[in-house]
Amino acid sequence: MIVVTKHTASEQEISNLVEELKSAYPVEIQKITGSGCTVLGFIGDTSSIDMTQIENDIRVERVMRVTEPFKKANRHFHPDNSIFEIGGRKIGGKDIAIIAGPCSVESEEQIVGIAESVKASGATFLRGGAYKPRSSPYAFQGLEEDGLELLKIAREKTGLPIVSEIMDVRTIEKFIDDVDIIQVGARNMQNFSLLKELGRTRKPVLLKRGLSSTIEEWIMAAEYIMAGGNEQVIFCERGIRTFESYTRNTLDLSAICAIKKLSHLPIIVDPSHATGLKFMVEPMCMAAIAAGADGLIIEVHNNPAKALCDGAQSITPEAFGKVVNKMRKYAAVEERQISEVN
Ligand code: PEP
Ligand code: MN
Repeated sequence: MIVVTKHTASEQEISNLVEELKSAYPVEIQKITGSGCTVLGFIGDTSSIDMTQIENDIRVERVMRVTEPFKKANRHFHPDNSIFEIGGRKIGGKDIAIIAGPCSVESEEQIVGIAESVKASGATFLRGGAYKPRSSPYAFQGLEEDGLELLKIAREKTGLPIVSEIMDVRTIEKFIDDVDIIQVGARNMQNFSLLKELGRTRKPVLLKRGLSSTIEEWIMAAEYIMAGGNEQVIFCERGIRTFESYTRNTLDLSAICAIKKLSHLPIIVDPSHATGLKFMVEPMCMAAIAAGADGLIIEVHNNPAKALCDGAQSITPEAFGKVVNKMRKYAAVEERQISEVN
């Protein structure tokens, strides 16, 4: 349930109202001051609350039942877009974040070299897998802790904040210390114990869509993180499983519009895992911007043919530079911009 206060109600009147409602009902109340109105979001069992009684209050504009199961992630609770500032870069609002880097960190030379070239082309964050969720236990599993150390060296040299995937709740402290954005991969989207632990942290989380997850299941995964008090969740559409086998997955561009309608949280797109094919990366980046995405996460490798993981979908630093230049033009059409570094 949400209560929208009258725009004439003063700060003091709204605070008093919150206190009165809290003592009258056994619910948590989240107060969001947006542009033009204040919204009080009720979290908890609201079934027995008499809406008309609240509606008749002089300080109240209107009361609405929120039928969706997600509350903190719900746009009704927070009508303005959430904008997060991470390492001096914004994600959300007018800014389009560009996260680029290899699927996996392979060596110091590789990650530093790629970081330097994607930064020169306009990337705003560096990605790199240290713990890899591979389908085969015999495939390269990532450099693990050493991979995180190499990412830190690349950050030190370039200033790019780093994004890396967590696989196990036991490594959470290390990720809090080492990375700027913790990625939850598609395969862990419904790892509820991991989501709960991430909810206790105050680190931004990049939440990839599960392989076969509905939009509601995905938003509920974000709600798990937010319920613990961590509000900084960024969705990432990375393609879903369909009957189609030409592409690795099917990029659901409509998910961007759905998330924008249902939630205030930013959403970015991963055209690399969504298609699995490097020639599709560029057009899908433009399509994502046209559909309203808040950023892209793109796999870039200095030598895709020799990549230890996901070479077929990785583009070269040169190709990446061209994609960024084109994205700048598409962003301008949408009255947006590739994030500038503060
Ligand atoms: C990745 O980003 O390297 C990755 C494994 O992605 P996903 O979880 O979307 O498959
Ligand atoms: Mn990959």
